Amino acid sequence: MLVVQKYGGTSVRDLERIGNVARKAIAYKEKGNDMIVVVSAMSGETDRLLNLAHGIAAFPDEREVDVLISTGEQVTSALLAMTLKSMGYDAVSVLGCQVRIITDSSFGKARINDIEKEKILQELRAGKIVIVPGFQGVDEEGNITTLGRGGSDTTAVALAAGLKADLCEIYTDVDGVYTTDPNICDKARRLDKISYDEMLEMASLGAKVLQIRSVEFAKKYNVPILVKSSLVEGQGTLVCREEDMMSMEKVVVSGVTYSKNEAKVTVNKVPDKPGIAAKIFTAVSEANIVVDIIVQNISHANTTDITFTVAKADAKKAYKMMEGMAKEIGADSVSVDEDIAKVSIVGLGMVSHAGIASKMFSVLSAEGINIEAITTSEIKISCVIAKKYGELAVQALHKAFGLDREDVKEEN
Ligand code: ADP
Ligand code: ASP
Ligand code: MG
Repeated sequence: MLVVQKYGGTSVRDLERIGNVARKAIAYKEKGNDMIVVVSAMSGETDRLLNLAHGIAAFPDEREVDVLISTGEQVTSALLAMTLKSMGYDAVSVLGCQVRIITDSSFGKARINDIEKEKILQELRAGKIVIVPGFQGVDEEGNITTLGRGGSDTTAVALAAGLKADLCEIYTDVDGVYTTDPNICDKARRLDKISYDEMLEMASLGAKVLQIRSVEFAKKYNVPILVKSSLVEGQGTLVCREEDMMSMEKVVVSGVTYSKNEAKVTVNKVPDKPGIAAKIFTAVSEANIVVDIIVQNISHANTTDITFTVAKADAKKAYKMMEGMAKEIGADSVSVDEDIAKVSIVGLGMVSHAGIASKMFSVLSAEGINIEAITTSEIKISCVIAKKYGELAVQALHKAFGLDREDVKEEN
């Protein structure tokens, strides 16, 4: 079998943990498997490097930021290869200049277009454990690019898809995907299986256990992903096609997510006439800023407020841009609120059930939480609220939708 394993930052945080990773990879190798191991940077390292860059400028050069932050994964790749060799196993790290993972040129959020497989296959055929630094690629011009925070997951799934691996395991610091972040709700329950679509929604709504693009890849190429802990034994969670789910798992709401990574930008008193929204959002998209929720209030005295949310990392850029735009279109002012949270409920079963949204709103109101914006899709409902209520909202929704551990036992 060809196995791709990915180890996240906490799993490689020091030499002892790297030793643990080496032993896990060896155990699979000893069973006769071909092994590709993708590693993240040591926990905290990417943040440390980003802080250095931001110590120089508020908007450091994006190409150079990628040169900088890709080094974290290079360090752990070399350390793991050395560790494996010291344990008597043949291993080789393959960097972007040796085996190209070709991406577009969107520094900081590049997309993988192609993978040069031949060199990896050669090394595997030679019996080596192949180590690939996650999170990075090169563009057509040879510039180093990175895939966005959490991007090592995507490296692993893209390799598994490209090389048609038999198994893709993502090792992290929790033993699977839970009904909500187990670090903020102690009643969270591990799921045995979750469908690609639910996982896509959960990932895009803040469950950082898998990067969203890794799930997109997995769904497109039908790569089942097994999420496991690198520290405790357990069966983990299988992310797979809906058809492969057991019916027992098909509850109405399967998870609650929470994101603090967004900011709300409001353009106040925009002239209410055709073409203004197009102008605002064309400019935003041309700046490569992804917009999530958009709310336009009812027109009052021929002006309206337009509110939208963006990733916190893009908030300053969006604010500056809207200040210029406000002058151009004759809007009154621009404000930014970074103290927001987005809480969401996700579930395939919502497609065929009425009353889920009203239940969610009632639960929040019973806690005295004001809803600032709402967005829905077939299988999710999200509400923007004040950040200070985020964790309370998650816990209340988790309980109200029957996801708390004790409740689940009683129902079954
Ligand atoms: P790694 O460094 O291994 O990539 P991450 O920190 O990126 O790990 O992702 C693991 C974390 O994701 C967990 O520690 C947990 O706090 C968080 N998380 C958020 N939502 C969920 C969820 N629904 N299930 C499991 N973990 C979740
Ligand atoms: N090191 C990168 C990050 O912290 C990528 C990853 O760990 O997946 O975002
Ligand atoms: Mg991660």
